[in-house]
Amino acid sequence: MELAAFQQQMRTLYGERDRERGLARTFAWFTEECGELSRALFRGDHTDRLREFGDVLAWLASLADQAGVDLASAAERYGTGCPRCAAAPCACVRPGA
Ligand SMILES: [Zn+2]
Repeated sequence: MELAAFQQQMRTLYGERDRERGLARTFAWFTEECGELSRALFRGDHTDRLREFGDVLAWLASLADQAGVDLASAAERYGTGCPRCAAAPCACVRPGA
């Protein structure tokens, strides 16, 4: 599924409810989902990770929608290379490397 279609689907499924909740409380839910993703990454199996990545993406799409940000446009920042050095793969000097 393309990012724009995914964001539209989240808007269709949850947009009205999410707007009623508001940006701050939606962000709180997003961070809760990030915690669940952390548990899936370090203590879960592949099925857990698949579910939690989907949930984090869903909440991220809701936040973007409420903030008036198109996720596909945001992703373009990385579309042609590293936003800092423009290379692919990134050629930036890593801190501590
Ligand atoms: Zn770079």
